Amino acid sequence: MAEVRVRSAPSPTGAPHVGTAYIALFNRAFARAQGGHYLLRIEDTDQTRSRSEYETQLLNSLKWLGLDWDEGPDSGGPHGPYRQSERLDIYQSHAKRLVEEGHAYHCFCTPERLQELRGQQAKDGGRMGYDGHCRDLSQGEVERQLGSSASHVIRLKMPREGSCQFEDRHRGSISFDYENLDDQILLKSDGFPTYHLAVVVDDHEMGITHVIRGEEWINSMPKHLVLYECFGWQPPDHTHLPLLLNPDRSKMSKRRNPTSVEYYRAAGYLPQAMLNYMALMAYPPIGDGDGDEEKFDFDTLVGHFDLGRLNMGGSVFDLDKLSWLNGRYIREDLSAAQLLEELKSWSLNDEYVQQMMPLMQERMDTLGDFIPKCGFFFARDVNASGEDLTGAIKREVDEIVQMIQTVVWSMDAIKAWNRDSVEAALARVAAFWEWPIRDITKPLFIAIMGQSSGPPLYESVALLGIDMTRVRLRSAIDALGGLSKKKERSLEKKWTAGST
Ligand code: GLU
Repeated sequence: MAEVRVRSAPSPTGAPHVGTAYIALFNRAFARAQGGHYLLRIEDTDQTRSRSEYETQLLNSLKWLGLDWDEGPDSGGPHGPYRQSERLDIYQSHAKRLVEEGHAYHCFCTPERLQELRGQQAKDGGRMGYDGHCRDLSQGEVERQLGSSASHVIRLKMPREGSCQFEDRHRGSISFDYENLDDQILLKSDGFPTYHLAVVVDDHEMGITHVIRGEEWINSMPKHLVLYECFGWQPPDHTHLPLLLNPDRSKMSKRRNPTSVEYYRAAGYLPQAMLNYMALMAYPPIGDGDGDEEKFDFDTLVGHFDLGRLNMGGSVFDLDKLSWLNGRYIREDLSAAQLLEELKSWSLNDEYVQQMMPLMQERMDTLGDFIPKCGFFFARDVNASGEDLTGAIKREVDEIVQMIQTVVWSMDAIKAWNRDSVEAALARVAAFWEWPIRDITKPLFIAIMGQSSGPPLYESVALLGIDMTRVRLRSAIDALGGLSKKKERSLEKKWTAGST
């Protein structure tokens, strides 16, 4: 049998998501169990959203978790480059081949025409989507348009009728009707491929034998299968893992749960506990049947790994359970000396503490003042009480809750996270509410530091980071009784429009 080769293929469009690490974990475990290779491919073809800092954060997070790769963008390998933005000529030549063989076509429709089409379709209430206008242009017309350098994309000729079926290793046979599917864009007007073309070309070129990815990609299967067929390639074996869920069973999102691996690292979770917990999201406890154990390390998972045992139900990512498991690792696996080492590599180190010195020097009489005032930099949460929060300023509870929610949005929109951008984000909130800035900062001291005064707020928030700050703001909102979905929606509208 051919050597097993698997990959994970994250897009660097935001802070490294727990879901990304979860997919990497299962790919790596499967590769190890099969004596195969696991490679990391960076899918950065969305030029508007991909950023190189996100890629760096992603690589660091996976390494922190111990999920290293055999081939990848930093270490290279025989099938590189492993960053899609460096493979454009490969996609372009494959798209050209599809056009030449009659499987794809140039489409010159302007954004205006497409918008008009959508408007008309919405009015008529029929099928939405591209109408195939350029599918049958004459060769002469295509050449004339190309000659005039008209902006164009390349679209796949999807079958117009019939259906396709595919075997998901775990979900069994899944079928899709072609008639509901659009002629997918393969190559965009800027020469970049879409996900669909790039993923199929790369999985083939990189010799991928098994695709293990999230279930949100199941609906893309028909397009991928048509592409495999047009190219005359054998598709890899496919497994779609269940989604990670919020407690209300919606897709895990940062509105309800911290989603960045960096949060978990900063909050003091151990990588081995994170790996174990992520494995439990789709893998049952391991054992001989009698004493099945939820606590198992990566090597044990590899030793028992069987793709056939995955549970497909979707799992709620439960912070309390993760914390419980993490506690077991701390209590059961570490000696006192190892625990100290863990603390040092986490936050009790010069690199982190040094950044607090300029903030604290003016505010200390004795060295003993440091820990009480700076403890919040090391805390998982400060659990501010509703009473303390409302005591900070003379405003209604409801107003304070809504104000804190706008702080979350304002901070989430920050592109370059630093002291000045934090200050600007809070100034935006103050302007929105038409409140003096101290009515914003006072409750935030309580929410973020758990105390009414301390080191300067903007610098402290900048050092704490968006993930730790967001969790504290959310828990302050909860401590004040929460914000109903309805109120949140109406507030969001006003916030986006820029006025109360
Ligand atoms: N770039 C996709 C993602 O971010 C990869 C999907 C796939 O594995 O095919 O999840």
